This record gives sequence, structure tokens and C-alpha cells, in this order.
Amino acid sequence: MPELPEVETIARGVDARARGDRITEAWFSGFREPFKTSRKHQARELPGRTILSVHRTGKHIVFELGPADGHGDAPRPRSRTASVEPGAIEPEAQWIVHLGMTGRLLVTTPDAPVAAHTHARLGLASGRELRFVDPRRFGRLEFRDLGRAKGFAGPGAEPLTVAAADFAALFRGRKLAIKAALLNQSLLSGVGNIYADESLFRAGIRPARRAGRLTAKELERLRVALREVLVHAIRLGGSSVSDYVDADGERGLFQVEHNVYQRSGQPCLRCKKPIRRILIAGRGTHYCPHCQR
Ligand SMILES: [Zn+2]
Repeated sequence: MPELPEVETIARGVDARARGDRITEAWFSGFREPFKTSRKHQARELPGRTILSVHRTGKHIVFELGPADGHGDAPRPRSRTASVEPGAIEPEAQWIVHLGMTGRLLVTTPDAPVAAHTHARLGLASGRELRFVDPRRFGRLEFRDLGRAKGFAGPGAEPLTVAAADFAALFRGRKLAIKAALLNQSLLSGVGNIYADESLFRAGIRPARRAGRLTAKELERLRVALREVLVHAIRLGGSSVSDYVDADGERGLFQVEHNVYQRSGQPCLRCKKPIRRILIAGRGTHYCPHCQR
């Protein structure tokens, strides 16, 4: 399952390759599952739109799209240099991609072999092609017309940018374990198991402690720690970005060295005492009983 840093890395990689490009055609598979908006509607709405930017919100990849240009008319001549100044146009629509468990978003060329389980192919004016591949079909593709619907926002606060007071307010009065609260997507968007464990270690906080009982100081340590582990992972991911989105579709799993995650029984890198594993909210939870209080 792609975690936030992985999704951020993919969104940046696609942005670097597709920003300013125009969608000329769209093809979708006959399956029902990956389409939050019907494939017919997406196939009608996407062609003719310029990709103004691509970014991450929570664990979703959001394409900001310009107006449908020449939609329904004869296609414009393809130009390899066709690119607009993206900042000059207000987004009128969004294409929202959730990778689910096994989804991949590739920037490739039309002649590259089409992988099994390809559910979407968007032809671009530059001659490139965007593909969505998802064997297990837990991913989701959605189209939003911003004239009719609000822009996509994650259900919870954004962990990279949430302010100290807003972060603290998320946990006030909550009886659940802080680890479970970090994973609760309606509080924070996109924090998964690895980064919950790693940020609690970095902040020196035991994962089973009641969220509402943490002091303001501890919560601030946690907010900073969470941002640091995410930014660090994004930085490592940045170097392997081409592996995610290039033609062969091979997934470059970047290695982040973990302090506690999946290290149960192994010595803590700080104090040498063994890392312990417990279950919180049904999830394997790793911590150092000596370094975390
Ligand atoms: Zn330790």
C-alpha cells in the first residue's frame, strides 16, 4: 500500500512530466471498480483539457485541469511543443487518482507494451501517455467539474502543513491510543502504519497512551517528528521517482531505514534494548519501551 511519501513522490514525478500537457484522448477498461465517476463520463470530460498541475492531497493524486478546449470538435493538430503557461489558467476540473493497494500511475508512450490490469490510458498532446494500472482494483479514479462540485480535500488535516494549535486540537479529549488517532484518516490525512510508529519513536511517546492525555509539549514534539519522518522519506523517494512513473512501470521501492517499524526483538538503535511489538487498533505497533514514555 503506497504511503504518503510514496504518493507525494509519484505526484511530483507526474507533475514534472505532464504539467502543461493537454489530454487528447481517453480510454478506460470495462471494469466497474476503479471508477468513482463512470468511465463514460470521464472519457467524455477529460479530452481537450490541459493539465495545469499535479499534486498530492492526503493519499490522493490530484490533477488540476483547465477548461475543455475544443471538446467535441475535430481534434487539434498534435504538437510536441504544445504547452501552456499553467499558472495563467484557473482550474475548472480535477482528475483524482487514488492508488488503493496496488495502483500505479505511469507516464509512458503509446507504443510501450500495455501491462495487464491497465484501466486507464490518457493520450497527451506531447506524444506521451498516462496509464493507470491496478491489478486488485482498490484504486479509484474520479472526475470533478469544479463548476458543480468543490475541489478535492482530504478528510483530515494535512500532516505536512498543519499548524501547532490545529494539530493539538485534533487530539483534545480523545480517549483512543495516540497511535490509533494518528491512523484515523478523519483527523490526519494520509498517515499510515510505518510513519505513525516512526514519528512516535522520534517524539519519545508510547503508542498506547491516550491521545487526549498528551501534553501540549508532547503533541508539538509529535507534530514536528511526524513532519520530519515524512519529509525525510519524500527526500529519499525523490531520487527513485523515475522508477515509479517510467515506461516499464517497475516500482522502485525506496528503502527508508526504520528505527522501530518491523524491528520487534531487534535492539533499539538508540538504547540497544529490544523493540517491542503490540497490537493497537488491529495494527502491528512497534516501539522502544525505554526510549518512549
Ligand atoms: Zn530505545
